[in-house]
Amino acid sequence: MSSKITSGKRFEGKVVLVTASTQGIGFSIAERFGLEGASVVISSRKQKNVDEAVEKLKAKDIKVSGVVCHVSNAQQRKNLVETTVQKYGKIDVVVSNAAVNPSTDPTLETEESVLDKLWEINVKASILLLKAGEDAAPHMKKDSSVVLISSISGYHQHDSLAMYGVSKTALFGLTKVLAAEMAPDTRVNCVAPGYVPTHFTGYITGDQTLRKAIEDRTLLNRLGTTDDMASAVAFLASDDASYITGETLVVAGGMPSRL
Ligand code: NAP
Repeated sequence: MSSKITSGKRFEGKVVLVTASTQGIGFSIAERFGLEGASVVISSRKQKNVDEAVEKLKAKDIKVSGVVCHVSNAQQRKNLVETTVQKYGKIDVVVSNAAVNPSTDPTLETEESVLDKLWEINVKASILLLKAGEDAAPHMKKDSSVVLISSISGYHQHDSLAMYGVSKTALFGLTKVLAAEMAPDTRVNCVAPGYVPTHFTGYITGDQTLRKAIEDRTLLNRLGTTDDMASAVAFLASDDASYITGETLVVAGGMPSRL
């Protein structure tokens, strides 16, 4: 699906770094920023995926570079940031999008190694990517922005997504903490997507019964699209949201989340 531009080119001259962005929601986020004029740096674990995604974005006249980066690999994180800064001289927007859900076991039966991995990739990697003195934060100046990608599961932990959901709940708190620490130059916000058919959710959204049950829990009678998520992220990173920081935007078609 190709991105719709509704608000002109809000990111002309901006440099945007998106993790886990060679397919799915991350790819659409990168595409959206690129179509609105940004230079985007995409990344994921596999060189082949990075190369293919770069080609797809270049075919749309998007200014794009690709770097291999497994978000829990310190050297690759450093390389991602350094390559971006060497090429463009700054970072205006960081979108931290990588996550895993390695197990559908009940919480008390989840292996310790899985608990560690959930923390490491879904929470810790976002902190380390931004960490002052080492990674992206020192390169983020006035009017910069961070968007963390959480999940509706952070509010309501589906049985098969229990500890994944808890890791996403942690991002709501992390958003508040980083917003306070990075203010006033950098705004930090969070998007909590509802269910979007991607590789990640294929085992749920590919099952017609489960899919119908989720659609019925939305008020708009449909699943989300990757473009729905990209629009919300672009809004939060743009000047349109210049007085918003420390907030989570739920983009879930009205699925129950919070009051
Ligand atoms: P997806 O379509 O499966 O795409 C995952 C992307 O992440 C790929 O580009 C993959 O490329 C990359 N990736 C995976 N592990 C990585 C790692 N450790 N380091 C760097 N890159 C990695 O997933 P998605 O559904 O778009 O999910 C994106 C984000 O949205 C996640 O944070 C997820 O929790 C959140 N979310 C999704 C939904 C949904 O319904 N889809 C709902 C709520 C929240 P490589 O294989 O090359 O690494």
